[in-house]
Amino acid sequence: MKAIVKTKPQPGAELLDAPTPRIAPDQVLVKVRATSICGTDVHIYKWDPWAQGRIGEKRLPQILGHEVAGEVVEVGSHVSRIKIGDYVSAETHIYDPGDLTALLEQKHLGEHMKILGVDCDGAFAEYIAVPERVCWKNDPSLPPEFATLQEPLGNAVYAVLGEDYDVAGKTMVIFGDGPAGVLSAGVARVCGATKIFLVGRSAITLEVGKKMGADYTLTLDLEPEERISFVLDHTGGNGADIVLEMAGNPQAVLEGFKVLRRGGRFTAFGVLSSPELNLDYNNSLVFKGIQVHGINGRKIFDTWYRASNFLSSGRLDLSPLITHMFPLEDFEKGFQAVMHRPRNCLKVVLFPHEKELEIAQARRSNNVR
Ligand code: ZN
Repeated sequence: MKAIVKTKPQPGAELLDAPTPRIAPDQVLVKVRATSICGTDVHIYKWDPWAQGRIGEKRLPQILGHEVAGEVVEVGSHVSRIKIGDYVSAETHIYDPGDLTALLEQKHLGEHMKILGVDCDGAFAEYIAVPERVCWKNDPSLPPEFATLQEPLGNAVYAVLGEDYDVAGKTMVIFGDGPAGVLSAGVARVCGATKIFLVGRSAITLEVGKKMGADYTLTLDLEPEERISFVLDHTGGNGADIVLEMAGNPQAVLEGFKVLRRGGRFTAFGVLSSPELNLDYNNSLVFKGIQVHGINGRKIFDTWYRASNFLSSGRLDLSPLITHMFPLEDFEKGFQAVMHRPRNCLKVVLFPHEKELEIAQARRSNNVR
């Protein structure tokens, strides 16, 4: 089968003819209809210090990719819930059912969890082997280019809703105009947030954020103090109820605490390249009485249930987010688009089968599902 493989401990990846995966008794074989490029894939593609430490040379060659939608063509002998012919996507956090977090219904955080396309072969291929327990059955009407985006959409749904699901009628500032931030603007809108502020660098992706649901966009061309007073002025001087940090930028973290109201919720999703912060802990957290919520993954499967219902009902339209579609063979073009700065790309969807790409393009130009 065709597969995009990391073969050497250096930047780049190769299109190879790889063996079709053999499934274990608890796995299913999925024929990939669409797969999308994520920031994690970029780390692996670039072979940056994170990828070197997390994956390492010893495990190469390894197939990239983890966001996927496809059809089940084979099931292992212990598989019962998923059937041949099912149209599925996959939760990328392959939890260990024995972890304490799995027993406490926090499956996505397990100590022995493995990540699809990071700790094992991924989805940038014609076929992928996936454990049944992380398969999510898709609504058959959902186009594969949207179904593959449920994994990053899940991060946004979890970040917007938090643990208390208390969003309706509230104000929200989102830092970061990458896919996570822009998706969150869309989710915040459908969850009933009232004033949604999106902070970012790129005029192009901020515009998509507006289309998705942001009421106000604030660029980095402004001084931090200007952005802070804009938010305060538009929230009765109190600050926003909820802040999502999705930029992975220390300045955004500090600014986030400043625009958050007393008693508000700070949601931490972005990963900082150097995690030390010069934060006034007493005044930013303790005396302000805020909640801090870290996001690592999605609730399995509460988040999936909600995300897929948002999509299949048509309440949430992800088409503005898909800026590029390519055949799998053109993965290099996809990675170049994702890495381009200033950002003019949000999500790149790759199609292993030419016919699927043609259908997706036709859907896009006719604006029909
Ligand atoms: Zn992803």
